[in-house]
Amino acid sequence: MLKDLLTDEFQYTVSEQLICSRSILDILSKHQECGARINRSIVKTVTTCGCMKIETKKNTIPKDASLADLKNIMDSHLYGKLCPQCRETIEIEIGRAMVYLAALCNLLDVNLFDIIIKEHNKMKLLGHYNLT
Ligand SMILES: [Zn+2]
Repeated sequence: MLKDLLTDEFQYTVSEQLICSRSILDILSKHQECGARINRSIVKTVTTCGCMKIETKKNTIPKDASLADLKNIMDSHLYGKLCPQCRETIEIEIGRAMVYLAALCNLLDVNLFDIIIKEHNKMKLLGHYNLT
């Protein structure tokens, strides 16, 4: 497979641009903070903006349902459509998380694209059984 230059270039740019956060402790805590900020931006689509709505109830799974059927049975509990402002906020937060994920890869000397390929191949090989 052709090496993905965009992902490699992104990882390289992060290594060149991220000057202040070089410590593994900084990167681990920033990456964790990004996860929380993503979650908060999603919550705010419901509680502040209102473009999204969360409605929950117990998923009822028929006894004869196959693992493949679950994709259509399991509910996301999320309704609505992101407004442009919420979409932009969430994209910024996910982008920031990707920077610190790339920084983590750099410190550990692992290639982000190689990880994506391995995970993609695992998902294709194991199908529905991969992430249950
Ligand atoms: Zn919104």
